[in-house]
Amino acid sequence: MTVRIVVIGAGICGVSTAIWLQRSGHEVILLDKGDPGMGASVQEWMGFRPTPPDNTPLIGQIGTSGIYTGFGHQHIGLSTGPKTGRLIAQLIDGETPNIDMMPYSPERFV
Ligand SMILES: Cc1cc2nc3c(=O)[nH]c(=O)nc-3n(C[C@H](O)[C@H](O)[C@H](O)COP(=O)(O)OP(=O)(O)OC[C@H]3O[C@@H](n4cnc5c(N)ncnc54)[C@H](O)[C@@H]3O)c2cc1C
Repeated sequence: MTVRIVVIGAGICGVSTAIWLQRSGHEVILLDKGDPGMGASVQEWMGFRPTPPDNTPLIGQIGTSGIYTGFGHQHIGLSTGPKTGRLIAQLIDGETPNIDMMPYSPERFV
């Protein structure tokens, strides 16, 4: 089923998520407050590397809200962001990812 999905943030994670969702046949709108990828994904030297207390990104749905998160990739988001995009697309499509998603639950700090 084709779903209209809004992805907020056009960094490596957002762009990767949008690509995977589009490949699945969904209608995707990619929003950014500035030019695409002008956050951590294009910093040349200084810059934020958002890191949760347990160094593990928050990937998954918040409850049954229909809102999915994919952030907190700290120093390795350029390497791991594309996989996050695929995982989010799989979750939205109701597929079972090939890794245990529990450690990444966005609800673990609630
Ligand atoms: C100097 C530096 C070097 C790095 N080197 C490496 C490396 O060698 N290897 C590696 O794997 N990783 C590296 N990283 C880490 C990697 O860059 C980040 O983990 C990754 O880019 C994070 O991607 P992201 O998509 O989550 O966030 P971002 O790239 O920051 O994208 C978030 C996007 O969301 C947008 N946004 C924010 N708020 C809003 C809003 N309210 N509304 C709409 N849009 C919004 C921003 O404009 C931005 O475009 C480095 C980071 C830095 C800073």
